[in-house]
Amino acid sequence: MFEDIPVDVSPMHEGERIRSANMFVELAGPKSIGAELVQVKDSVEDGKVEVIGPEISEMEQGQIYPFAINVEIAGSELEEELESVIERRLHELCNYVQGFMHLNQRDQIWCRVSTEARDAGFMLEHLGKALSVLFREEFPIIESISVTIMTDEDAVKEFLETAREKYEIRDSRARELSDEDVDVFYGCLMCQSFAPTHVCIVTPDRTALCGAINWFDCRAAYKMDPDGPIFEIQKGDVIDPEKGEYENVNAAVAENSQGTTERVYLHSVFGYPHTSCGCFEAVAFYIPELDGIGIVNRDFRGETPLGIPFSAMAGQCSGGKQVEGFSGLSLEYMRSPKFLQADGGYSRIIWMPKDLKESVIDFIPEDLRDKIATEVDATSIKELRRFLREKEHPVLERAPAEVEEAEVVEEEETHAEEAPVTEGIPVMASPEISLPAAGGFRIILKNAKIYAEKVIIKRK
Ligand code: SF4
Repeated sequence: MFEDIPVDVSPMHEGERIRSANMFVELAGPKSIGAELVQVKDSVEDGKVEVIGPEISEMEQGQIYPFAINVEIAGSELEEELESVIERRLHELCNYVQGFMHLNQRDQIWCRVSTEARDAGFMLEHLGKALSVLFREEFPIIESISVTIMTDEDAVKEFLETAREKYEIRDSRARELSDEDVDVFYGCLMCQSFAPTHVCIVTPDRTALCGAINWFDCRAAYKMDPDGPIFEIQKGDVIDPEKGEYENVNAAVAENSQGTTERVYLHSVFGYPHTSCGCFEAVAFYIPELDGIGIVNRDFRGETPLGIPFSAMAGQCSGGKQVEGFSGLSLEYMRSPKFLQADGGYSRIIWMPKDLKESVIDFIPEDLRDKIATEVDATSIKELRRFLREKEHPVLERAPAEVEEAEVVEEEETHAEEAPVTEGIPVMASPEISLPAAGGFRIILKNAKIYAEKVIIKRK
């Protein structure tokens, strides 16, 4: 089937990771631009594969290039609503190609080609051919398909604009519905290939955490393939409307996570938050010192006020884990009226990167817009506390008196021995803390929350 492709094409290569040591080139990703899109058309020149821009043979070792994949499909049973779900399969199918690694989705894609693949004569044209055949196989309703791959910077830039317009049309459509308007939610198991216990729950108010699949997309996918990775969940009885806990959702998650996760709150990071696979566009994280929540998105390269970047945080809560205080989410969910509603929604959000804040500014209540700090206002807990106090952020009304006491102690440069002993101040929460112990052992604390009777803050 793939005789004219010089590398193997098979699901067995799906987990292949291409590290810098054996990377020939990087395509798109955080240091460049890129996008992927599947579009349903009335007619398409079947089997056409085009590469616009430099091919692998014209690229230089270790360089980073813009990259885009545009797939056009036609078929009498194809509907526009299916585009997102078919597009989401690009991740999996690209990874079938030995020596080609694809991460993320939409305009967040990040790909690499290995040195071995280059040496074998692999070209982007081969990727296009493989996708063309694989998509036809996976989706028999595709009657004709063409694949265009772009590495030319101007072409990718132009395509990126088209792709973003298309994403926005898809996303805004889903904003018209709310969880109360439907009787059915959907589950998605597509990411179980790398996060075996992860089950995504997709509702009108909670777009999947990859940001690529909304409730309408799931409905179309289920209609097309009822035995596929997207399945129906009758909404059934609601246990807690505020937290977004449903009897049938819990049962579906328990069944499909092999009992690993038994309860899920759709709209909270506390208690039983939604599990996180690895494709999430952003992470919500609890900041115990201030009893508030921060959000960091994949594009943000700096450190959060917790002192760690997105990548470290993602590493701690991905893989299908349910980690209290952390939840992977889509940027679109931040536009939902139910966004973390059980935790206070935006009135509990105290920090997020500037670019992210700008992209969701219209969805942040007006009176809170200047009260949420960004990296420009605060890069540490100390600076964040000062900012919140200056702006009179409502979260301060929630902050335990003990934290305020600690702040006073800090400012007076005295020791906390003078502060009253209380029931305990939350000083740290982490999905995993590893401590060295005697005899060559390590003690690993899972989902640890550390409280202290006293907080002693010393000026260096
Ligand atoms: S993140 Fe969720 S909705 Fe998106 S592909 Fe993975 S399992 Fe499906």
